[in-house]
Amino acid sequence: MALIVVGSMAFDAIETPFGKSNKIVGGAATYIAWSASNFTRPVKQISVVGGDFPQDELDMLAARGVQMEGVQIKKDKKSFFWSGRYHMDMNTRDTLETQLNVLGEFEPVVPESYQGADILMLGNLSPAVQMSVIEQLGKRPKLTVLDTMNFWMETALPDLEKVLKHVDVLLVNDSEARQLSAQYSLVRAAKEIMKMGPKYLVIKKGEHGALLFHADHVFFAPALPLEDVFDPTGAGDTFAGGFAGYLDSTKDFSFEGMKSAIIVGSAIASFCVEKFGTTRLKELKRQEIDERIQQFVELVNFDISLVNK
Ligand code: AMP
Repeated sequence: MALIVVGSMAFDAIETPFGKSNKIVGGAATYIAWSASNFTRPVKQISVVGGDFPQDELDMLAARGVQMEGVQIKKDKKSFFWSGRYHMDMNTRDTLETQLNVLGEFEPVVPESYQGADILMLGNLSPAVQMSVIEQLGKRPKLTVLDTMNFWMETALPDLEKVLKHVDVLLVNDSEARQLSAQYSLVRAAKEIMKMGPKYLVIKKGEHGALLFHADHVFFAPALPLEDVFDPTGAGDTFAGGFAGYLDSTKDFSFEGMKSAIIVGSAIASFCVEKFGTTRLKELKRQEIDERIQQFVELVNFDISLVNK
């Protein structure tokens, strides 16, 4: 049982209508690893950081069962930096700044010990880097999951289209699904995107839950209505980590299996937003996750009797 995670490890600066963070540790692969390691270990991490990335953050992940052999440390360079500002709805945001730094020239090397993993979770970073990891794997993983964002649709669309041909499950949010497919209806968007390669598509809708598409099937997982949303950054990655980590623990890659995985992804993402950065994920206990999954079950569980005329 093993999961390879690829993605950015970064510094973020976040502004919400309710507060502002200094430079804090973030990055897609950071959130994914914290999330996935609740369900499966080891997590085999592939990323790159600069000499400015705190060693204790790497050590904390290692103590969680996240292997660091595939994480390059470029001592005299700076880590990837991203800053964003959330709108009043906390669902939409503007990117204020993206400094690729070490990510700009990242050439991933897949360690020999990572070969043979069942799931490849390609978190958000350049599609060319995602492709390079796919090409370095001797055996095709049983499941390849890819997360991406509008930045790559705007700056590297041909590379993204190429990598999508090798992907089983694509995770995007609703505006990205519309952008990628040039369709407003999410049902039509899903049909177009599934022609590009992925057999399964998850469209994340922030506080409005997530949709899972496969052939003519569709399933909806709600998001838990939360009283306080402090910082939505990383919720998508935390969702991805929960989704892939849970699937690695069940090995049920059917539509039914993925239905459970998007509930698990939604449940764990609901914790991420409760505090800034990875703070809440670091203190999370397995029992809290189980209780929250139960709340999801209750949220959508109802009996109905249809009146026959
Ligand atoms: P999410 O809120 O789940 O969409 O992910 C936010 C995380 O993605 C932040 O921690 C950022 O560091 C990271 N991120 C933002 N833009 C990019 C990008 N272009 N490439 C890789 N990672 C990014």
